[in-house]
Amino acid sequence: MDNKRIIEDLLKSHGLKKTPIRLEMLQLFFKYDFALSASDLDTLMKSGHDRVTVYRALASFEEHGILHKASEDVQGIKYAMCSSSCPDEVHTDMHAHFTCDECHHTYCLEDVKVPEVKVSNNYAIDRVNYTLKGTCKQCKS
Ligand SMILES: [Zn+2]
Ligand SMILES: [Zn+2]
Ligand SMILES: [Zn+2]
Repeated sequence: MDNKRIIEDLLKSHGLKKTPIRLEMLQLFFKYDFALSASDLDTLMKSGHDRVTVYRALASFEEHGILHKASEDVQGIKYAMCSSSCPDEVHTDMHAHFTCDECHHTYCLEDVKVPEVKVSNNYAIDRVNYTLKGTCKQCKS
């Protein structure tokens, strides 16, 4: 199966209509192994699109368990593909991320679980952002 088939199946299984913009966006997420922001997509996409459409598509991919937020910082939110087991609404693929200080790319560390942290009842935790920083393999060589 090529990427196009996989992506079409992915959209279908999460109840999303396939539109040229959505297909092109997910192609890019398959192509790069690091997380992408709305402005990265804006630069990489070839077809005519407006930013609002890109933002909306990202939000619905997140809502439907196709993408998750890999990092949130001054450069904006970066998204990455969810593992195939991620259902709609709740993200079950919580893992650590790595951000490179040199190239600023963020990678999913899918096999590194986020450690469980106990906090007092004063705080209701609904998201954990666990990011490790350093130099990636490409920048080190
Ligand atoms: Zn997920
Ligand atoms: Zn790097
Ligand atoms: Zn991730």
